[in-house]
Amino acid sequence: MRIPEKYLEPTVEVRDVQQLNGKIVLVTGKCGLYPDGKGGQLGDRGLINGTSILRVFEDGGQTLVEVEGYVEPGIYRVELDLSRRMDIAQQHTGQHILSAAFVHVADIETVSFHMGEEYSTIDVDVPYIESSVLKEVEDLANRIVQQDLAVQEIVTTSEQTGNYNLRKPLSGKISGLVRLIKIEDFDISACGGFHTDTTGQVGIIKIIGTEKVKGELTRVYAVSGFRALRYFQKYTDVLKELSKQLTASVDEILIRVRKLQDQARERGLLLSRLSEEYAKILALNLTSLGQEQLLYMEGYTEVGNFLAKYANLDGKVLIFYDGYKYTLASKTYDVRVFVEALKRYFGGKGGGKPELANYQTEKPIKREIFFEIFNNLFKRSREV
Ligand SMILES: [Zn+2]
Repeated sequence: MRIPEKYLEPTVEVRDVQQLNGKIVLVTGKCGLYPDGKGGQLGDRGLINGTSILRVFEDGGQTLVEVEGYVEPGIYRVELDLSRRMDIAQQHTGQHILSAAFVHVADIETVSFHMGEEYSTIDVDVPYIESSVLKEVEDLANRIVQQDLAVQEIVTTSEQTGNYNLRKPLSGKISGLVRLIKIEDFDISACGGFHTDTTGQVGIIKIIGTEKVKGELTRVYAVSGFRALRYFQKYTDVLKELSKQLTASVDEILIRVRKLQDQARERGLLLSRLSEEYAKILALNLTSLGQEQLLYMEGYTEVGNFLAKYANLDGKVLIFYDGYKYTLASKTYDVRVFVEALKRYFGGKGGGKPELANYQTEKPIKREIFFEIFNNLFKRSREV
């Protein structure tokens, strides 16, 4: 692995131990741990004197290490999580190759890079990328992997970098020694992170998605190495399961799903029509109840929605409960007044129009209560 010299020796000098927001943080002197987020890369993990490293971060020129348990001040050799370092090296080298492939294929520049625990992202300077271009970039990146080119590390001064054809010019703020990562004639860029020794060690590079960001950039999601293998394993498992559930080959899954969607849409329409017909019948029965001024019913949401439309609600209030929410409707009374009263008594939320409103509360309300409230709100005032 190509590791910057500073991080080759995994020793940590613990100078002080602090409690920060209930977390144990070691203040270090000399520290061979790579900090999280530095250069867009993930940080090191491992054990210091048997206790787990949870986070490594820089603050005021010092490296701080958040750990699981107490560690006495002293000098420790860290048991580094080397498989994590290899994973980081694969993702990082994969990113260099991918960014360079974007330049080679379509002259698309990488603006920024971020490595996450599950995938990496690069933001490139175009708002949209054709899928054929993405495929070409991915193919070229993987050809570079298969050619197993040497990944070379060059340490030079910032002034000397002008002699190299860097993919991205060095920021004017950088001075002193600069580390360049060179992949033969394919790419050279300044970088302080972990890389593999050869492109072959990256294994495979897979673009897993794109998204338009910040108006004019595209965020490209990618995985490399073992992460790419895990990604394929997960997707293969899902596809296999889908294929079994749908009794269709992987190639037929899409056709089968579209068919199921069509069927679901047709059934939805049928259900809606049946609910409407049923609501019409219920509405007739409600009307035959005659003098009753408050009509209370329970049933399916679909039916309730149509009931308010077809019931004769002159001089009546209909309350329909679908096990989740109450729908109140009337042609004579302002049902918002009813909802406000319910909110006053039982809390919950609701509102709507004078002729149609909804009300929702955590616990169902006994139906007798509605009659009481109705009498208090409307009947009494009418009798006066
Ligand atoms: Zn790098």
